[in-house]
Amino acid sequence: MAMDELIERAAELMATVGPAVVFTGAGVSTESGIPDFRSPTGVWARYDPDDFSFQSFVRSEEGRRRYWALGGELYATIRLAQPNPAHRAIATLERLGLLDCVITQNVDNLHQRAGTAPSRVIELHGNATRARCLACGCAYTRDEIQDRLEAGEEVPACRPCGGIIKPHTVLFGEPMPARETEIAERRARGAGCFVVVGSSLVVYPAAYMPLYAKESGARLIIVNLTSTHLDHLADVVIPGKAGEVMVRLVERIQARAVR
Ligand code: NAD
Repeated sequence: MAMDELIERAAELMATVGPAVVFTGAGVSTESGIPDFRSPTGVWARYDPDDFSFQSFVRSEEGRRRYWALGGELYATIRLAQPNPAHRAIATLERLGLLDCVITQNVDNLHQRAGTAPSRVIELHGNATRARCLACGCAYTRDEIQDRLEAGEEVPACRPCGGIIKPHTVLFGEPMPARETEIAERRARGAGCFVVVGSSLVVYPAAYMPLYAKESGARLIIVNLTSTHLDHLADVVIPGKAGEVMVRLVERIQARAVR
């Protein structure tokens, strides 16, 4: 089916079945210059994920040194990144009254910076702009920690107590945040329309969300550059770049509204 037709079908669904739950992954932010993990140029083409587990982070100073070497590199990119047209199109959906919430696997804060109300953004894997001490709970901005890394500290420790500072992001092997996971599941199950944007849908338990939605009767739309293993369940699959597709989709929805 031609792209125009796919976008028209998706626009019709989104305009008629009620506010959508939008589920985003790293692919919604690649056009902001933040690499995803699994593309050939992604992060795992250069690093071994086993080196960045929660267990390795808490177990030893060396584990933390390896984590911060990668974390410092990724955050340097995240802090310079700007929201792209896909983030802004999703924020426009909210202004049109067509967004229930955004469930995101991303940690880059770009949905909020694009104008989506923070109360509507459910972060399943945390937020890279914050950090805290695991011992005393002292809160840090990630910018402060980044400045310390860039000044030459390899493993920043808590200034008041010397404890381990951990970024707010969920590391491999670390439990998902219980409250966010529960809210996300509830919203997914209640969705009339569930729109995946830029996710390989292979990271669990986040990737259960579209399954919960579909199981509960939602219409499923998938916007992704490459195919996913859930494409066969979708009502509309739009292969393409998130920025272009989401902008055209929102334009079609707005055009329908003024017809
Ligand atoms: P992923 O890396 O597994 O997959 C990204 C998907 O997006 C791929 O299928 C790719 O084909 C697609 N994609 C890439 N660019 C695209 C574009 N411009 N338009 C449409 N699709 C595009 O990402 P994931 O499924 O989100 O899982 C990776 C995990 O890594 C997530 O859990 C997330 O926590 C984390 N992560 C976050 C960020 C971020 O915050 N920006 C970046 C990298 C990884």
